[in-house]
Amino acid sequence: MGEFELISRHFKRPAPPLGAVILGVGDDGALLQPTPHHQLVISTDMLVEGRHFFPGVDPEALGHKVLAVNLSDLAAMGARPLGFTLALALPAADDAWLAAFARGLFALADAHACPLVGGDTTRGPLNLCVTVFGEVRPGHALRRDAARAGDDLWLSGRTGEARLALALRRGEPWATGDVSAVAARMDRPTPRLALGQALAATPGVRAALDVSDGLLGDLGHILNASGLGADIDLPGLPLAPALRGLAPEHQHHCLLAGGDDYELLFSADAAAHDAVLAAGRAAGVAVTRIGRLTNGPGLRVQDAQGRTIETPVRGFDHFAD
Ligand code: ADP
Ligand code: MG
Repeated sequence: MGEFELISRHFKRPAPPLGAVILGVGDDGALLQPTPHHQLVISTDMLVEGRHFFPGVDPEALGHKVLAVNLSDLAAMGARPLGFTLALALPAADDAWLAAFARGLFALADAHACPLVGGDTTRGPLNLCVTVFGEVRPGHALRRDAARAGDDLWLSGRTGEARLALALRRGEPWATGDVSAVAARMDRPTPRLALGQALAATPGVRAALDVSDGLLGDLGHILNASGLGADIDLPGLPLAPALRGLAPEHQHHCLLAGGDDYELLFSADAAAHDAVLAAGRAAGVAVTRIGRLTNGPGLRVQDAQGRTIETPVRGFDHFAD
């Protein structure tokens, strides 16, 4: 199978141009027509074998995940997806692998009406890179630098299960439980697109990001960009059943510094409390108030007695170790 046969067999689909796509796979460039007077939102994320996923991982799940992590960035901006490109380095043209990968990829793409419009395919160590294109109404993007002191801090869903799945697969001694209860949180994250768009349309919702490298580390990006501090209420964090049996230290690590969660962390004016809950209901996603933003610098996590506890504040950093 040659390069062009591979592309047309697995990645070029006969479907007519959809939504914003005037011209898709097959030309030197794709043509997208955003809604008039909207702004483009563009984001890229790469998954590298051995770094972001285990060798031999289920290709269907990988197809899902490489698009999901990118759609999660659009969700965090409050954007509506328009389309995406896919750059692939493959060690070999394995037909069965490609078919499963494309199945996972297109199932998620179709669920969000986000068509594949182009890409690049080359031989090399397994490496997947997606670029997503989305749109927002001017002034409605959820930016990291838009938080204000006194804002409530909110989290969608719950954190920590993907970290527990990773620990169980690695055989980390503290991790207990059944990996099948948490594996999907690591392998098939759900991009919170409906929630992101509902929040962008909710007055009083200010800053947002998606939690990919650990709750506290990612919160640090909002605090730095907005020049604020935060108080987090640890007992107020939603706790997955699978995390209940862990020793407190490991439970806190999963909740606060786990990574791979792909939940939305966002700030909103206290007056928007009920509107935020309504946005969560409309999107079918639980949203929980987990703390508030403060004028002073610094991030404090308080336990049930109001005592500040020691926390791992650093998120994941590819070049830190
Ligand atoms: P060019 O040489 O003009 O850059 P290529 O030969 O790399 O184009 O690709 C041919 C067409 O196939 C282009 O439209 C490109 O966007 C598309 N394409 C290549 N790889 C992929 C892929 N993995 N998924 C989707 N489209 C792809
Ligand atoms: Mg060309």
